[in-house]
Amino acid sequence: MAKYDITFSCGHTETRQLVGKETQRHSYIAWAERAGRCSACAKLDKMAAIEAVEVEHDLPALTGSDKQVAWARTIRAEIMGEVMEYLTTLRVKAEAQDKVAEYEERAAVLLQVIGANTAARYWIDNKGRPARELLLSAHKVTAQ
Ligand SMILES: [Zn+2]
Repeated sequence: MAKYDITFSCGHTETRQLVGKETQRHSYIAWAERAGRCSACAKLDKMAAIEAVEVEHDLPALTGSDKQVAWARTIRAEIMGEVMEYLTTLRVKAEAQDKVAEYEERAAVLLQVIGANTAARYWIDNKGRPARELLLSAHKVTAQ
């Protein structure tokens, strides 16, 4: 174990304690200098990715304690990504059946229903739930 001052690709230097064989440590340092981000920049990147999802889907502000909201925003971004991925597989099927217009209309409604959940609790409770199940629940809500 040893401490290294590593200058990451973002230009910031951090002291990191590295373990493992010397060759592994050196390959980590080489990677960090080429493509790694310091912990502050990595955190900002993550926040920017979350905000990009929120903007893309026009997601509302969440309600709950500050801690719940911060955690729920991370989960919501993950869930929306999984839902979009699942919808992409459905789109492929819709294309094969020449039903893209119907698919797009339906997908937009379901995304809106899922995205409309403003309680931080909802996202925390649904963490790890398969996208297919969330879409099915949204479908049931709109079918009523
Ligand atoms: Zn940095």
